[in-house]
Amino acid sequence: MSKFTSANNVLILGCGRLGASIANRYSESGINVVVVDENENAFDRLDQLFAGDRQVGDATNINFLKNSCRIENATTVFLVTGNDNANLFLAHICAKEFGIARIYVRFDDPDRSELVKDLPHVIAISPFELTLEKLTSLEKEED
Ligand code: AMP
Repeated sequence: MSKFTSANNVLILGCGRLGASIANRYSESGINVVVVDENENAFDRLDQLFAGDRQVGDATNINFLKNSCRIENATTVFLVTGNDNANLFLAHICAKEFGIARIYVRFDDPDRSELVKDLPHVIAISPFELTLEKLTSLEKEED
């Protein structure tokens, strides 16, 4: 069972390169972190000193999120599985069923952002768009 106890509890669904980096940063800051992945080997990406909780399971399984991850106590959630459909589904669940205060969702397909724009407290992030913005601004600097 997860060890969410204090006022600031961060739940990270997906422990790929992005999820693990976020998890390591919060852990370093002394904040309660629970990180979830369906593949136990994904946790190898966590720092040796990672002080959070690791949960192996399917992030789209609501019972698992409730019973093992204590999602109802999460104040911030990062939806960073490598699957846009799973992340989209989870954005709806986190916003509507659990009313989580801060929800960050990653979409590889930037068009998915439109599908969460009316959900409360959801911020969509697309690596594609961020890269494009950065390249455009670099190009402008050179002009
Ligand atoms: P990446 O695509 O490198 O950012 O990694 C995404 C991570 O999400 C991988 O470690 C996958 O094992 C994990 N993942 C994908 N789908 C799920 C899921 N439904 N539940 C839990 N973890 C998942």
